[in-house]
Amino acid sequence: ARQFFVGGNFKMNPASKQAKVALVETLNKAPLDPNVEVVVAPPALYLLAVKETLKKEVKVAAQNCYFKPSGAFTGEISPAQLVDSEIPYVVLGHSERRTLFGESSELVATKTKAAVDAGLSVILCIGETLEEREAEKTVEVVSAQLKAAVDALDEKDWSKIVVAYEPVWAIGTGKVATSKQAQDTQADVRAYIAKAVSPAVAEATRIIYGGSVTAANCKELSSQPDVDGFLVGGASLKPEFIDIVNVNK
Ligand code: 13P
Repeated sequence: ARQFFVGGNFKMNPASKQAKVALVETLNKAPLDPNVEVVVAPPALYLLAVKETLKKEVKVAAQNCYFKPSGAFTGEISPAQLVDSEIPYVVLGHSERRTLFGESSELVATKTKAAVDAGLSVILCIGETLEEREAEKTVEVVSAQLKAAVDALDEKDWSKIVVAYEPVWAIGTGKVATSKQAQDTQADVRAYIAKAVSPAVAEATRIIYGGSVTAANCKELSSQPDVDGFLVGGASLKPEFIDIVNVNK
């Protein structure tokens, strides 16, 4: 069975060190479902402090990395540096990276392969825009985003990948996908992985949902067979993140 996974993507938040400390304290005090893998992704500046102050049950993730191990790449962090700092996870291909920072699926795939080769686990984000959904291109778009990763990765690398399906129209909008929309697309994603990689990899890979997940809407989503967890943005900065982690407790 696939272990339920809940990630908190803090994005470029919180805006102060005090707020960051308060967030860690909230997580440390909360009883968390031991059956859930919990990972939080603070800004790079706070990664080590959060890792060192957070209780051991909660892992940390970087929000991005480059694909080279070191060198003249101003502003970047390498997979090797993350591994050296004992950061186990990295989020790659978030829609904000793709749209605001111009990252192509090929670049995301190159980073994903470099991250896995260095020893990181990757939360690999995919998702369609509203225009693409309305044009009934969702499967085509998410399959093309995944194909780049499929081409770059070896079959064994998939044990280090969590796929995050985050429809762009649901991110930060308050418009959560219906549980049917999430289930249908995530079943399509799993079918694509079965065909493009292998049925065994498709069966084993966690596919999580992201986009306006809250404590109020996560229960029904979590009961869908192809929803193996969540990637939470805004609500991960609030105490309700605990309720999302504990949705099946
Ligand atoms: P929100 O939960 O704020 O919609 O963000 C989702 C997201 O982008 C997580 O990576």
